[in-house]
Amino acid sequence: MKTVKILQNLIAIDSQNPPGNEIKVVEYLQDFFEKNTKGKCIIQSFENNRSNLLVYFGVRPRYLFNVHLDTVSVGDKNKWLYDPFSGKIQNGKLYGRGACDNKGSLAAIAGAILKNKPENCLFLFSADEEQTGKGIKVFIESDFHKNIEEALVAEPTDREILVAHMGITGLKVSFIGKSVHSSRPEEGENSIYLANHFLNIFQEYYVNILQKEQNEFLGNGVSSIGYIQGGKDTSVLNTVPDYCEVKIDFRYIPEYNADQILWGVQNLVNTDEVLKDKVRVEQIYKFPSFQAGVDNHSMIEIIKKVDSQITLTGARYYTEAADLQEAGINTIVFGAGSIVQAHQVDEYVEVKELEYVEKVYTEIFKRLR
Ligand SMILES: [Zn+2]
Repeated sequence: MKTVKILQNLIAIDSQNPPGNEIKVVEYLQDFFEKNTKGKCIIQSFENNRSNLLVYFGVRPRYLFNVHLDTVSVGDKNKWLYDPFSGKIQNGKLYGRGACDNKGSLAAIAGAILKNKPENCLFLFSADEEQTGKGIKVFIESDFHKNIEEALVAEPTDREILVAHMGITGLKVSFIGKSVHSSRPEEGENSIYLANHFLNIFQEYYVNILQKEQNEFLGNGVSSIGYIQGGKDTSVLNTVPDYCEVKIDFRYIPEYNADQILWGVQNLVNTDEVLKDKVRVEQIYKFPSFQAGVDNHSMIEIIKKVDSQITLTGARYYTEAADLQEAGINTIVFGAGSIVQAHQVDEYVEVKELEYVEKVYTEIFKRLR
Protein backbone atom coordinates (compact mmCIF):
# COMPACT_ATOMS: atom_id res chain seq x y z
CA MET A 1 0.00 0.00 0.00
CA LYS A 2 1.28 3.49 -0.88
CA THR A 3 2.18 5.71 2.08
CA VAL A 4 -0.11 8.49 0.82
CA LYS A 5 -3.01 6.03 0.90
CA ILE A 6 -2.09 4.91 4.44
CA LEU A 7 -2.14 8.56 5.51
CA GLN A 8 -5.53 9.16 3.89
CA ASN A 9 -6.91 6.09 5.70
CA LEU A 10 -5.54 7.37 9.02
CA ILE A 11 -6.97 10.87 8.52
CA ALA A 12 -10.40 9.36 7.79
CA ILE A 13 -10.39 7.89 11.33
CA ASP A 14 -11.51 10.56 13.81
CA SER A 15 -9.11 10.61 16.80
CA GLN A 16 -9.70 14.15 18.01
CA ASN A 17 -8.63 14.47 21.63
CA PRO A 18 -10.78 15.01 23.66
CA PRO A 19 -12.19 12.38 23.70
CA GLY A 20 -9.39 10.58 21.76
CA ASN A 21 -11.04 7.25 20.86
CA GLU A 22 -7.57 6.08 19.76
CA ILE A 23 -8.79 2.45 19.77
CA LYS A 24 -10.11 2.97 16.22
CA VAL A 25 -6.64 3.91 14.95
CA VAL A 26 -5.14 1.05 16.99
CA GLU A 27 -7.53 -1.45 15.33
CA TYR A 28 -6.65 -0.12 11.87
CA LEU A 29 -2.90 -0.39 12.57
CA GLN A 30 -3.16 -3.82 14.20
CA ASP A 31 -4.98 -5.14 11.14
CA PHE A 32 -2.46 -3.40 8.86
CA PHE A 33 0.62 -4.85 10.61
CA GLU A 34 -0.82 -8.35 11.08
CA LYS A 35 -1.82 -8.60 7.40
CA ASN A 36 1.26 -7.01 5.88
CA THR A 37 4.13 -7.81 8.22
CA LYS A 38 3.42 -10.62 10.71
CA GLY A 39 4.60 -8.21 13.41
CA LYS A 40 3.61 -8.90 17.01
CA CYS A 41 0.99 -6.47 18.30
CA ILE A 42 0.24 -5.68 21.94
CA ILE A 43 -2.58 -3.39 23.01
CA GLN A 44 -2.04 -1.38 26.22
CA SER A 45 -5.51 -0.21 27.27
CA PHE A 46 -5.99 2.39 29.97
CA GLU A 47 -9.54 3.72 29.50
CA ASN A 48 -12.65 2.93 27.49
CA ASN A 49 -11.73 3.22 23.79
CA ARG A 50 -8.27 4.44 24.66
CA SER A 51 -5.06 2.45 24.27
CA ASN A 52 -1.48 2.38 23.01
CA LEU A 53 -0.36 -0.14 20.41
CA LEU A 54 3.08 -1.78 20.59
CA VAL A 55 4.51 -3.52 17.52
CA TYR A 56 7.78 -5.45 17.23
CA PHE A 57 9.47 -8.06 15.04
CA GLY A 58 12.35 -9.52 17.07
CA VAL A 59 13.27 -10.23 20.70
CA ARG A 60 14.53 -7.62 23.18
CA PRO A 61 14.47 -4.56 20.87
CA ARG A 62 16.99 -1.83 21.81
CA TYR A 63 15.52 1.06 19.84
CA LEU A 64 12.15 2.75 20.22
CA PHE A 65 10.05 4.68 17.71
CA ASN A 66 7.21 6.65 19.28
CA VAL A 67 4.41 8.40 17.43
CA HIS A 68 1.08 9.59 18.84
CA LEU A 69 -2.33 8.54 17.54
CA ASP A 70 -4.55 11.43 18.68
CA THR A 71 -5.07 14.83 17.06
CA VAL A 72 -6.30 18.17 18.34
CA SER A 73 -9.90 19.13 17.65
CA VAL A 74 -11.01 20.13 14.14
CA GLY A 75 -12.69 23.24 15.59
CA ASP A 76 -15.22 24.95 13.35
CA LYS A 77 -15.48 22.63 10.32
CA ASN A 78 -16.89 25.47 8.20
CA LYS A 79 -13.60 27.32 8.40
CA TRP A 80 -11.85 24.49 6.55
CA LEU A 81 -11.45 24.77 2.79
CA TYR A 82 -11.19 20.96 2.57
CA ASP A 83 -13.03 18.39 4.68
CA PRO A 84 -10.68 17.72 7.65
CA PHE A 85 -11.22 13.93 7.28
CA SER A 86 -10.81 13.81 3.48
CA GLY A 87 -7.03 13.64 3.01
CA LYS A 88 -7.54 15.59 -0.22
CA ILE A 89 -4.41 16.28 -2.25
CA GLN A 90 -4.09 19.68 -3.94
CA ASN A 91 -0.87 21.08 -5.48
CA GLY A 92 1.32 18.51 -3.75
CA LYS A 93 -0.21 19.11 -0.31
CA LEU A 94 -2.25 16.52 1.54
CA TYR A 95 -4.91 18.15 3.75
CA GLY A 96 -6.67 16.95 6.90
CA ARG A 97 -6.64 17.04 10.71
CA GLY A 98 -3.46 15.28 11.76
CA ALA A 99 -1.87 15.43 8.27
CA CYS A 100 1.29 16.83 9.82
CA ASP A 101 0.63 16.40 13.58
CA ASN A 102 1.06 13.48 13.67
CA LYS A 103 -0.45 11.05 11.17
CA GLY A 104 2.03 12.07 8.44
CA SER A 105 4.93 10.67 10.45
CA LEU A 106 2.77 7.71 11.49
CA ALA A 107 2.12 6.83 7.83
CA ALA A 108 5.81 7.32 6.99
CA ILE A 109 6.79 4.85 9.76
CA ALA A 110 4.18 2.33 8.54
CA GLY A 111 5.41 2.74 4.94
CA ALA A 112 9.06 2.30 5.99
CA ILE A 113 8.17 -0.85 7.98
CA LEU A 114 6.63 -2.37 4.84
CA LYS A 115 10.05 -2.10 3.15
CA ASN A 116 12.07 -3.24 6.13
CA LYS A 117 11.07 -4.97 9.36
CA PRO A 118 13.78 -4.03 11.87
CA GLU A 119 14.22 -6.76 14.48
CA ASN A 120 15.92 -4.44 16.97
CA CYS A 121 13.12 -1.82 17.05
CA LEU A 122 9.98 -1.43 19.17
CA PHE A 123 7.19 0.76 17.81
CA LEU A 124 5.02 2.61 20.30
CA PHE A 125 1.85 4.16 18.89
CA SER A 126 0.72 6.22 21.86
CA ALA A 127 -2.60 7.72 22.95
CA ASP A 128 -3.42 11.04 24.63
CA GLU A 129 -0.33 13.05 23.65
CA GLU A 130 -2.39 16.16 22.93
CA GLN A 131 -3.92 16.31 26.42
CA THR A 132 -2.24 14.82 29.50
CA GLY A 133 0.10 12.18 28.07
CA LYS A 134 -1.59 9.18 29.73
CA GLY A 135 -0.40 6.82 26.98
CA ILE A 136 3.31 7.52 27.38
CA LYS A 137 2.98 7.23 31.18
CA VAL A 138 1.32 3.79 30.84
CA PHE A 139 4.19 2.73 28.56
CA ILE A 140 6.89 3.96 30.94
CA GLU A 141 5.23 2.21 33.89
CA SER A 142 5.24 -1.07 31.92
CA ASP A 143 8.29 -3.31 31.46
CA PHE A 144 8.50 -2.78 27.71
CA HIS A 145 10.98 0.10 27.89
CA LYS A 146 13.49 -1.76 30.09
CA ASN A 147 15.89 -2.80 27.30
CA ILE A 148 15.51 0.36 25.24
CA GLU A 149 18.67 2.45 24.86
CA GLU A 150 17.71 5.03 22.24
CA ALA A 151 14.46 6.50 20.96
CA LEU A 152 13.07 8.63 18.17
CA VAL A 153 9.85 10.56 18.76
CA ALA A 154 8.13 11.42 15.49
CA GLU A 155 6.73 14.98 15.49
CA PRO A 156 6.85 17.64 12.76
CA THR A 157 10.42 19.04 12.80
CA ASP A 158 10.75 20.54 9.30
CA ARG A 159 13.95 18.81 8.15
CA GLU A 160 15.76 19.42 11.40
CA ILE A 161 16.50 17.11 14.34
CA LEU A 162 15.07 18.37 17.61
CA VAL A 163 17.54 17.59 20.39
CA ALA A 164 16.31 19.88 23.18
CA HIS A 165 13.18 21.59 24.33
CA MET A 166 12.20 23.77 27.21
CA GLY A 167 10.46 22.57 30.35
CA ILE A 168 7.25 24.28 31.40
CA THR A 169 6.09 25.22 34.87
CA GLY A 170 3.45 27.52 36.33
CA LEU A 171 3.49 29.30 39.69
CA LYS A 172 0.62 30.86 41.63
CA VAL A 173 1.75 33.69 43.89
CA SER A 174 -0.85 34.75 46.49
CA PHE A 175 -0.63 38.03 48.44
CA ILE A 176 -2.33 38.25 51.82
CA GLY A 177 -3.05 41.76 53.14
CA LYS A 178 -5.53 43.21 55.64
CA SER A 179 -8.98 44.57 54.77
CA VAL A 180 -10.12 47.92 56.19
CA HIS A 181 -12.49 50.63 54.99
CA SER A 182 -11.00 52.50 52.05
CA SER A 183 -11.29 55.79 53.95
CA ARG A 184 -8.57 54.55 56.34
CA PRO A 185 -6.14 52.65 54.08
CA GLU A 186 -3.17 53.38 56.36
CA GLU A 187 -4.66 50.93 58.91
CA GLY A 188 -4.82 48.02 56.43
CA GLU A 189 -2.47 46.25 54.04
CA ASN A 190 -3.43 46.47 50.38
CA SER A 191 -2.70 43.11 48.71
CA ILE A 192 -2.66 44.73 45.26
CA TYR A 193 0.22 46.98 46.34
CA LEU A 194 2.04 43.86 47.56
CA ALA A 195 1.52 42.26 44.15
CA ASN A 196 2.78 45.40 42.47
CA HIS A 197 5.91 45.38 44.61
CA PHE A 198 6.45 41.71 43.77
CA LEU A 199 6.09 42.26 40.03
CA ASN A 200 8.77 44.94 40.12
CA ILE A 201 11.33 42.86 42.00
CA PHE A 202 10.38 39.74 40.00
CA GLN A 203 11.20 41.43 36.69
CA GLU A 204 14.63 42.40 37.98
CA TYR A 205 15.25 38.94 39.45
CA TYR A 206 14.15 37.22 36.28
CA VAL A 207 16.28 39.28 33.94
CA ASN A 208 19.30 39.15 36.23
CA ILE A 209 19.28 35.48 37.12
CA LEU A 210 16.95 33.23 35.18
CA GLN A 211 17.41 34.79 31.80
CA LYS A 212 21.20 34.96 31.94
CA GLU A 213 21.97 31.27 31.48
CA GLN A 214 22.09 30.15 27.84
CA ASN A 215 21.49 26.70 26.38
CA GLU A 216 23.36 25.72 23.22
CA PHE A 217 20.16 24.87 21.33
CA LEU A 218 17.55 26.99 23.13
CA GLY A 219 19.11 30.27 24.18
CA ASN A 220 17.61 31.61 27.41
CA GLY A 221 14.38 30.72 29.19
CA VAL A 222 11.31 32.96 29.10
CA SER A 223 8.44 33.78 31.45
CA SER A 224 5.07 35.45 31.13
CA ILE A 225 2.68 36.85 33.73
CA GLY A 226 -0.55 35.25 32.52
CA TYR A 227 -3.13 36.21 35.15
CA ILE A 228 -3.77 38.69 37.93
CA GLN A 229 -6.80 38.99 40.20
CA GLY A 230 -7.32 41.12 43.30
CA GLY A 231 -10.16 42.66 45.27
CA LYS A 232 -13.72 41.38 45.56
CA ASP A 233 -16.11 43.74 43.84
CA THR A 234 -15.74 45.65 40.60
CA SER A 235 -18.39 48.32 41.39
CA VAL A 236 -17.95 49.06 45.11
CA LEU A 237 -14.39 50.01 45.84
CA ASN A 238 -14.72 51.02 49.49
CA THR A 239 -12.66 48.14 50.89
CA VAL A 240 -8.89 47.75 50.86
CA PRO A 241 -8.47 44.26 49.33
CA ASP A 242 -6.83 41.60 51.49
CA TYR A 243 -6.22 39.11 48.70
CA CYS A 244 -4.56 39.25 45.29
CA GLU A 245 -3.02 36.52 43.14
CA VAL A 246 -0.70 36.38 40.16
CA LYS A 247 0.01 33.38 37.91
CA ILE A 248 3.26 33.07 35.95
CA ASP A 249 4.20 30.66 33.15
CA PHE A 250 7.87 29.72 32.78
CA ARG A 251 9.61 28.05 29.85
CA TYR A 252 12.92 26.96 31.33
CA ILE A 253 16.06 25.51 29.77
CA PRO A 254 17.44 22.05 30.75
CA GLU A 255 20.09 23.74 32.95
CA TYR A 256 17.21 24.28 35.45
CA ASN A 257 14.35 22.19 36.75
CA ALA A 258 10.82 23.18 37.75
CA ASP A 259 11.48 22.92 41.49
CA GLN A 260 14.46 25.28 41.26
CA ILE A 261 12.18 27.88 39.63
CA LEU A 262 9.74 27.47 42.54
CA TRP A 263 12.50 27.72 45.20
CA GLY A 264 13.99 30.77 43.46
CA VAL A 265 10.73 32.70 43.63
CA GLN A 266 10.06 31.51 47.21
CA ASN A 267 13.50 32.74 48.21
CA LEU A 268 12.90 36.05 46.46
CA VAL A 269 9.74 36.78 48.52
CA ASN A 270 11.08 35.33 51.79
CA THR A 271 14.11 37.62 51.74
CA ASP A 272 12.16 40.77 50.82
CA GLU A 273 11.29 43.02 53.79
CA VAL A 274 7.95 44.12 52.32
CA LEU A 275 6.72 40.71 51.19
CA LYS A 276 8.06 38.32 53.83
CA ASP A 277 5.22 36.40 55.61
CA LYS A 278 2.56 37.93 53.33
CA VAL A 279 3.04 35.75 50.25
CA ARG A 280 2.42 32.10 49.34
CA VAL A 281 4.11 30.59 46.27
CA GLU A 282 2.71 27.35 44.79
CA GLN A 283 3.64 25.23 41.78
CA ILE A 284 0.48 24.66 39.70
CA TYR A 285 1.91 22.57 36.86
CA LYS A 286 5.22 21.23 35.60
CA PHE A 287 6.49 19.41 32.50
CA PRO A 288 10.14 18.42 32.26
CA SER A 289 12.64 19.88 29.80
CA PHE A 290 14.52 17.65 27.42
CA GLN A 291 18.09 17.45 26.14
CA ALA A 292 19.41 14.54 24.08
CA GLY A 293 22.92 13.15 24.44
CA VAL A 294 23.88 14.31 20.94
CA ASP A 295 27.38 12.84 20.91
CA ASN A 296 26.30 9.23 21.29
CA HIS A 297 22.93 8.89 19.55
CA SER A 298 23.35 6.50 16.64
CA MET A 299 20.22 7.73 14.81
CA ILE A 300 21.67 11.26 14.54
CA GLU A 301 24.68 9.77 12.76
CA ILE A 302 22.49 7.82 10.34
CA ILE A 303 20.23 10.79 9.53
CA LYS A 304 23.31 12.94 8.83
CA LYS A 305 24.53 10.29 6.38
CA VAL A 306 21.20 10.34 4.52
CA ASP A 307 20.88 14.15 4.56
CA SER A 308 24.16 16.04 4.94
CA GLN A 309 22.24 19.35 5.16
CA ILE A 310 20.43 18.42 8.35
CA THR A 311 20.92 20.58 11.46
CA LEU A 312 20.26 20.07 15.18
CA THR A 313 17.82 22.42 16.86
CA GLY A 314 15.77 23.17 20.00
CA ALA A 315 12.14 24.22 20.62
CA ARG A 316 10.00 25.95 23.24
CA TYR A 317 7.11 23.47 23.00
CA TYR A 318 6.75 20.16 24.83
CA THR A 319 7.08 16.64 23.36
CA GLU A 320 7.01 13.11 24.78
CA ALA A 321 10.80 13.02 24.31
CA ALA A 322 11.02 14.58 27.79
CA ASP A 323 9.19 11.61 29.36
CA LEU A 324 11.44 9.08 27.60
CA GLN A 325 14.61 11.00 28.44
CA GLU A 326 13.50 11.09 32.09
CA ALA A 327 13.13 7.29 31.93
CA GLY A 328 16.81 7.08 30.93
CA ILE A 329 16.38 6.65 27.17
CA ASN A 330 18.52 8.86 24.92
CA THR A 331 15.90 10.45 22.64
CA ILE A 332 15.65 12.69 19.58
CA VAL A 333 12.63 14.13 17.73
CA PHE A 334 12.33 13.93 13.94
CA GLY A 335 9.28 13.77 11.67
CA ALA A 336 7.29 14.98 8.68
CA GLY A 337 6.00 18.52 8.16
CA SER A 338 6.36 21.72 10.12
CA ILE A 339 5.01 22.62 13.57
CA VAL A 340 3.72 25.82 11.94
CA GLN A 341 1.07 23.74 10.14
CA ALA A 342 0.09 21.82 13.28
CA HIS A 343 -3.16 22.60 15.12
CA GLN A 344 -4.33 24.88 12.27
CA VAL A 345 -7.37 25.08 10.03
CA ASP A 346 -6.47 23.39 6.70
CA GLU A 347 -3.57 21.48 8.27
CA TYR A 348 -1.48 19.80 5.58
CA VAL A 349 1.71 17.92 4.88
CA GLU A 350 3.58 18.16 1.58
CA VAL A 351 3.69 14.81 -0.20
CA LYS A 352 7.39 15.25 -0.96
CA GLU A 353 8.08 15.81 2.78
CA LEU A 354 6.25 12.59 3.54
CA GLU A 355 8.45 10.76 1.03
CA TYR A 356 11.60 12.39 2.43
CA VAL A 357 10.83 11.34 6.01
CA GLU A 358 9.84 7.83 4.94
CA LYS A 359 13.19 7.51 3.16
CA VAL A 360 15.06 8.65 6.29
CA TYR A 361 13.12 6.19 8.52
CA THR A 362 13.79 3.38 6.02
CA GLU A 363 17.54 4.08 6.15
CA ILE A 364 17.48 4.19 9.96
CA PHE A 365 15.73 0.79 10.10
CA LYS A 366 18.27 -0.63 7.65
CA ARG A 367 21.40 0.71 9.36
CA LEU A 368 20.66 0.39 13.10
CA ARG A 369 22.83 -2.30 14.67
ZN1 LIG B 1 2.13 16.07 17.88
